[in-house]
Amino acid sequence: MISEERIRTFINSLDRGNAPFLDELEKEALGGNVPIIRKDSQGLMKFLMAMTRPSNILEVGCAVGFSALLMAEYTDPDTRITTIEKFEKRIPVARSNFEKYDKDKKITLLEGDAADILADLSDSYDFIFMDAAKGQYLTFLPDCKRLLKKGGLLVSDNVLQDGDVMESRFAVTRRNRTIHERMRDYLYAIKHDPELESVILYIGDGMALSYKL
Ligand code: SAH
Ligand code: MG
Repeated sequence: MISEERIRTFINSLDRGNAPFLDELEKEALGGNVPIIRKDSQGLMKFLMAMTRPSNILEVGCAVGFSALLMAEYTDPDTRITTIEKFEKRIPVARSNFEKYDKDKKITLLEGDAADILADLSDSYDFIFMDAAKGQYLTFLPDCKRLLKKGGLLVSDNVLQDGDVMESRFAVTRRNRTIHERMRDYLYAIKHDPELESVILYIGDGMALSYKL
């Protein structure tokens, strides 16, 4: 049996690292208890940026802008990124980070609840990063599918909930039970949708990749 902790440490030790400004922001965010994409998932995102070379990216769940800046750093100069955030405390921090790191031309922040904003969007995207409230992924799925181009990729973060998702519903606390059920339904939905080919990866806190057929 491979020790999970050790194998992750080993894999991460091979990483050549991110641009220094991202390390700085990552440290700051983690210090302030702001959730950001995990180290090994960052590696996957960089890989996907290089491989799929998206021109129009949509992110659901911006927080202070770390993952948007990561995507901005590792895409072509003319790639456009739209990101959504509803938490008032985080919006100005994200905005100032985009300016500070000179990516405010590339990244557009839409303020408000993704449930409303997604419904109003009509552009089409070749890459969507779903990273908002885990209990809402299933609600956002129809709009994400509508906004995603054929041949585009939907990447969903934190789908394994630190392993909680595989436990029986009776083993999770009442508070987490709704999220637990909804995430299971979400994973079932993306795996059984005839328009998607999805794979669930045991990386970071679990990431699902869904390719639109
Ligand atoms: N993508 C970021 C982390 C996002 S954390 C990164 O890796 O750097 C998830 C964020 O989604 C939180 O800041 C939370 O406020 C936001 N969020 C949750 N539900 C939302 C919703 N319905 N609409 C908009 N933002 C939402
Ligand atoms: Mg996340």
